[in-house]
Amino acid sequence: MISAFLKLFSGRHYRQFYKRCQPIIRKINRLEEEYQALSDEAIQAKTAEFMKRHADGETLDDLMPEAFAVVKNTARRLCGKDFEVCGQIQRWDMVHYDVQLMGGVALHSGKIAEMATGEGKTLVSTLPLYLNALTGRNCQLVTVNEYLAQRDSEWMGQIFRFLGLTVGCISHGQNPEQKRAMYGCNITYGTASEFGFDYLRDNGMSSSRSEQVQKEHFYVIVDEVDSILVDEARTPLIISGPSQDDNSGPYLKLKPDIERLVRKQKQMSDQLANDAERLMEENTDEAIRLLLQLKIATPKHEKLLSLIENGSIRRMLEKYETEMQGDFRREEYYRMKEELYFTIDEKNQQADLTEKGRVFLTPDDPDAFMLPDLASAFVEIEKDFESSLEEKQQKKLNIENEFIEKSQYIHCISQLLRAYTLYQLDDEYVVQDGKVMIVDDNTGRIMPGRRWSEGLHQAIEAKESVQIEKETKTYATITIQNYFRLYEKLAGMTGTAETEATEFNDIYKLGVMVIPTNKPCIRIDQDDVIYKTKRDKFKAVITEIDGAHRRGQPVLVGTVSVESSEQLSRMLKQQNIPHTVLNAKLHQQEAEVIARAGQRGAVTIATNMAGRGTDIKLGEGVRELGGLLVLGTERHESRRIDRQLRGRCSRQGDPGSSKFYVSLEDDLMRLFASNGPIAKILEKTFQEGEELAHPLLNRSIESAQKKVEQYNFSIRKRLLQYDDVLNKQREVVYGIRNDALLQERPKDLIFELIEEEIVDQVDSTLESGGRNQEENNIQTLIKWLILHFPYPFKPEDFEGKSSDQVVSFLMEKTKEVYSMKEGLENPDYLGHLERFIIIRAIDQNWQNHLTEMEDLRRSVNLRGYGQKDPLNEYKNEAYKFFEQMVGEMRRMIFSSLFRASTNAESYQELLRRLNSVARESRPEESAAASSSSQAQASAQPRRPVVRELPKIGRNELVTIRRNGETQTVKFKKAEAMIRTQGWEFISKD
Ligand code: ADP
Ligand code: MG
Repeated sequence: MISAFLKLFSGRHYRQFYKRCQPIIRKINRLEEEYQALSDEAIQAKTAEFMKRHADGETLDDLMPEAFAVVKNTARRLCGKDFEVCGQIQRWDMVHYDVQLMGGVALHSGKIAEMATGEGKTLVSTLPLYLNALTGRNCQLVTVNEYLAQRDSEWMGQIFRFLGLTVGCISHGQNPEQKRAMYGCNITYGTASEFGFDYLRDNGMSSSRSEQVQKEHFYVIVDEVDSILVDEARTPLIISGPSQDDNSGPYLKLKPDIERLVRKQKQMSDQLANDAERLMEENTDEAIRLLLQLKIATPKHEKLLSLIENGSIRRMLEKYETEMQGDFRREEYYRMKEELYFTIDEKNQQADLTEKGRVFLTPDDPDAFMLPDLASAFVEIEKDFESSLEEKQQKKLNIENEFIEKSQYIHCISQLLRAYTLYQLDDEYVVQDGKVMIVDDNTGRIMPGRRWSEGLHQAIEAKESVQIEKETKTYATITIQNYFRLYEKLAGMTGTAETEATEFNDIYKLGVMVIPTNKPCIRIDQDDVIYKTKRDKFKAVITEIDGAHRRGQPVLVGTVSVESSEQLSRMLKQQNIPHTVLNAKLHQQEAEVIARAGQRGAVTIATNMAGRGTDIKLGEGVRELGGLLVLGTERHESRRIDRQLRGRCSRQGDPGSSKFYVSLEDDLMRLFASNGPIAKILEKTFQEGEELAHPLLNRSIESAQKKVEQYNFSIRKRLLQYDDVLNKQREVVYGIRNDALLQERPKDLIFELIEEEIVDQVDSTLESGGRNQEENNIQTLIKWLILHFPYPFKPEDFEGKSSDQVVSFLMEKTKEVYSMKEGLENPDYLGHLERFIIIRAIDQNWQNHLTEMEDLRRSVNLRGYGQKDPLNEYKNEAYKFFEQMVGEMRRMIFSSLFRASTNAESYQELLRRLNSVARESRPEESAAASSSSQAQASAQPRRPVVRELPKIGRNELVTIRRNGETQTVKFKKAEAMIRTQGWEFISKD
């Protein structure tokens, strides 16, 4: 009932559209007739005239009839001319039909034009492309493969070039300069994935404006739109790398060294433990000092753990630790650490080599742990006027590689140290079947398939001598859906869109317009025939093919899988029937095979004809034999794919027929036959070898297909809902990134980001607790500031100020110190440096974030949330992750603003000047502060922020996070996990 009503309804809206088009079509044809009298030059002059009129305010809708008429008239002028298209000479013989004009109107109004195969959609698209290009903006046409993009751009390019427009075509192998030229044309052809990847490279990876290739996302027509937006949309585009194959290397190579190092430290720790125990009575202070050192060396040392079971020892140790971490004993604390080989920060789950450890590992290569200073290296390279652009690029690449390699090396060591010192077998993890598996702290259950991120898992695998599994890092990713949503105006064309109309409307806001065929379609669609077994079915198919082949009638056989294509091919060989099997990998050959499929006696086997973009023309004498015969060997899950196959015959009023063969053993039929009433009857009465055909059966099959289609749609929609979360974040991040690339001097952007961060910090530190906390709060704020900002702040600077006043004061200081720094830098490179600061902070943090989001996605789906919707959980968590990521990014920008430099001396000079400012007020402390800020900040780029814990009841539930993994536990448990195991507080539930 309802579907019949809908059909009526939708039929009506098509009819309305046809009616609206009639006067437009008449007008186009009338104008076109007038234009026939004009000279070529006069027609060519129209483009400039239209562009001017558009610039003066006429809308594209106003211009449409004239513009379409000019395109049609150009097609007429080209008739009889020969052109080379993809290496073959082709004679132009097309002038737009009325239905093609109608298709053009639909495409211009941002709809999907459903036009049957062979109706000439390629030619249709010339109308709206020309019209929209009159804006001077870049219009694009997306096809399913590069061969078709090339073919269509050369073929249709004749019209555009005649009219004075430029046409480009994007292909994978082009270098950025070539691509930029192509995107700079009025009209650009290409494939969806290459366009998408170019977008990702432009917005997620390029480091200057000059590396970006795309101009804009204005108007795009997607050819074979169902195939691209429905079938291809299942897998997102991902740029990942770099050394995906080779990341076991450093872990295995470093393992023996780290084991030596860990043994060394173990001996030392045992000694410390013994001494501490011995001295506890006679010299408690010294014993506690040794215990603290032991805690930094081996936080899980047995003797340490047993000693601090004694409450008074534990309290003494804690008190001493706080004291040592304070400003006044920093130096002492630092020396204490430097006596060790490495230090373990259990709270933050970090491990760092000391100088002593470095020397131990590489006694004769002191530079092994020195990261090259990218900023100044780049500037040096830029300064070198002798080298060519390419040489410079190469040099930059080399430096970057060195940087990446070394930082990976350092990262590996730190992960291995963590693996050996913080993670214990059968406690944090178990080894089963040669795999390292995480144990859930809370439940003690093994969490199969989960992995620790950032290489920790690999480090533990190396430690346990099991196979190290690969890990790729995602640099940038986007789904096809979200890529196409970037366009101001989107349109599509295909032979089959109607069955997916809801999806196009829901996801892309694209309406579907079914355009009538030029000549009535006289294809005969026969009823499906059903067999009991697959064997019976194939036998019947072979008989049918054999018969047609003997008559000389060409046959196109469609299968649903490569496997059944091969099976059929073997059977045909046994019968000595010559045939061709389509190989989807060779696009050009494929197009040629399909083009030959209409010749007398041809037998062609193809899997899934959707989105092939080549139509089959009938050979000599085939018409009389009934045209092309299309046989389907199975019904596809989706009706659309079946319609695509059917649509391959009877193009442009040709004769032709189609027929589907089905067996009860087919997947779809098993699904449908297992519960339909018809199925039961079939089962009983149906004999092997028998065939059955009835219109009623067709309908039952169709309803089974509809169910599967809806199910698949709901899956795609769900995927998209997940991706939407990331998409919003990507828009924000790419927005900032692009601002940085576009501005000559993105200094204000930097200040803006720093201000946001300062506001956050000031709010969270100064406003915690009451007035009596002020002194403490100010200390906390100063401690935080010196990590990022080499300025000798004093408590008096903040006392008695409101938060707002503190923020403005800090911003004033930031700008003041920065302008001091500007005076010391090479002015020519400041813009470059500022950009570098932002881009590096964004890329590092965003890429880590992408990995964390993937982990989150996995864990949300793996974990039962009871009644909660995993999508909602994902959204909430994703938001928190994002906030943290942005915070880290801003802090990184803040601290590198002063440390990054266009020349090596300027930073020293800046520090010297700031210190002299400091000396005027308070000598020792501030000098220590600025030098320690330097040491701290360069030690670890990604140190999680430790937050003060809010006041929460011990039995209340809270959410905490560590390495991208979250848990909800009672506060009393959480507190311990946060204080001792590196978990981070996220929220109170
Ligand atoms: P579709 O993409 O709709 O399946 P194509 O664009 O590949 O169809 O065109 C199919 C064939 O129809 C091409 O060989 C083309 O030359 C021919 N054709 C298209 N439009 C016309 C026309 N107006 N007059 C004559 N032939 C046309
Ligand atoms: Mg086509």
